[in-house]
Amino acid sequence: MKPFDYVRPSSPKAAVAALAKDAQAQFIAGGTNLLDLMKRNVMQPQKLVDVTRLPLKGIEPISGGVRVGALVSNSALAVHPLILQKFPLLSQALLSGASAQLRNMATVGGNMMQRTRCYYFYDTALPCNKREPGSGCGALNGINSIHAIFGFSEKCIAVHPSDMSVALAALEARVLVSGPKGDRTIPFVEFHRLPGEQPQLDTVLGRDELIVAVEIPEGPFSQHMHYLKVRERASYAFALVSVAAALHIQNKTIQNARLAMGGVAHKPWRLYEAEKALQGKPVTEASFREAASVAMQGARAFEHNDYKLKMAPQSLVQALKTAAGLA
Ligand code: SF4
Repeated sequence: MKPFDYVRPSSPKAAVAALAKDAQAQFIAGGTNLLDLMKRNVMQPQKLVDVTRLPLKGIEPISGGVRVGALVSNSALAVHPLILQKFPLLSQALLSGASAQLRNMATVGGNMMQRTRCYYFYDTALPCNKREPGSGCGALNGINSIHAIFGFSEKCIAVHPSDMSVALAALEARVLVSGPKGDRTIPFVEFHRLPGEQPQLDTVLGRDELIVAVEIPEGPFSQHMHYLKVRERASYAFALVSVAAALHIQNKTIQNARLAMGGVAHKPWRLYEAEKALQGKPVTEASFREAASVAMQGARAFEHNDYKLKMAPQSLVQALKTAAGLA
């Protein structure tokens, strides 16, 4: 690990100013991903701006929803009564991620900002456009078993690793950020980006912007939600495929659906067409299978990840059955 400077500002404004001052500076909160990346020289910030003492740890009801501070730990969020009552999907997603020790350290903002787990990204001896733009994509014709089936580019086929973010995308959360030019709100589904020509950029967050909070709007979905994660081990593993499913059901008919998948794209992958396909349909396995077939339109696999073309629709059907109480 290369030596670095360290500062600990006492307000969000001071944190933003500290970052804006230095092009090589980086925010650090729980550090559960960044420190690993620094030890491997994948990321080499010259200064760390420690935001862990900032007053961004509240979970509070707001009009029409819940506001969660960016520094709330993953473990605290997962067991908070408001989350358990209104958004059990989010709690399930959080508890499926990492280990208890990591969840105690990891924050909401940090979880959103974690980097891909593509093997090539972590090995500085191998080509990777995300780590070193222009060096090539080792995974494209290499070991690509954990990689994307949607929304990839020739420059990068990596997937985003966060479970929490898949749930927040389905729940239509909003991200509140603060920067030198003021505050702004970003719809969660627009926060992470597809790789396109610039795979080094994971999100639309400005380099000197700080995530302050996430707001989650309440909907009519809380009775029928489920997060399903398929992975190589029962715990402490990233999703091969995951599904966040939320249904509004009345008189055995689906009024509305919110669906997102993880492990399949460079960002949480919302399934808008499948959501439309479910509207007005009876709560049956046949409806869910039809929606899964719609969801998979446009999917394409690489040499080692074609299993995802079967795993993804089957996982979607299973998650919908569980959310609807049919499983
Ligand atoms: Fe790098 Fe993306 Fe290719 Fe992985 S998939 S090697 S992260 S460019």
